[in-house]
Amino acid sequence: MPTKPKSHAKAAAVAQPKSQILNPGSSRAANPKSKIQNRKSYTSPERVKAIFAALDKLFPQAECALRHENAFQLLVATILSAQCTDERVNKVTPELFRKFPAPKDFVGLAQEDLEQEIRSTGFFRNKAKSIIGAATRIVQNYGGKVPQTMEELLTLPGVARKTANVVLGTAFGIASGVVVDTHVFRVTRRLNLTPQETPEKVELDLMKLVPQDRWVSFGHQVIWFGRKICQARSPLCPECPLETLCDSPDKTT
Ligand code: SF4
Repeated sequence: MPTKPKSHAKAAAVAQPKSQILNPGSSRAANPKSKIQNRKSYTSPERVKAIFAALDKLFPQAECALRHENAFQLLVATILSAQCTDERVNKVTPELFRKFPAPKDFVGLAQEDLEQEIRSTGFFRNKAKSIIGAATRIVQNYGGKVPQTMEELLTLPGVARKTANVVLGTAFGIASGVVVDTHVFRVTRRLNLTPQETPEKVELDLMKLVPQDRWVSFGHQVIWFGRKICQARSPLCPECPLETLCDSPDKTT
């Protein structure tokens, strides 16, 4: 059972550094172009460290919210989580894994039968096809065990870098990259840690900016931060501990 993050913004207000170094946008008009031109100041070691410190204080034990008991179950849950909430996935997977606990149980399974099990997660036809395909390849090529390299994981149907990073980081403790899901993409761009327009390029920027021993925890922390505070439609800026470090046009303060 994954450990939930301990705290929330109000309960863990972080003492904020106030200097211009850490808040480079405060003296400029909010102009997205000027932000990108001043990217160096946004990614200064002091500012980045302040962001790490705030995330550590907010979510010291952030972990993956998808329920799983092994790497294969996490792989399946992550495939199911595309365009779906983790809460919804966690409602579907207990019964799914009770019926089909291991990769071999999906081999030869009729796609229509799996579709019925996962229907409520959306995009169920593609997801069923990916899960059966991935399980079959795991059985046929990897002796029934989920492979532990990015290169091998990317050969599985339905697995791209985000899913591979989730499995490697959470199930195996291997930092091969930074998970960039919808939350990480939105939050890191709002915080001007990257100006990039695609998850792949955002990940490359984050891999340069974040020390490798933080890649896994940083992903978890930012996902929880995006869920609980820096939400897509109505970010909770008035209670955000990173507010003084942020001059996103999306701010609600
Ligand atoms: S101040 Fe608002 S937009 Fe900026 S990081 Fe915090 S919640 Fe997100």
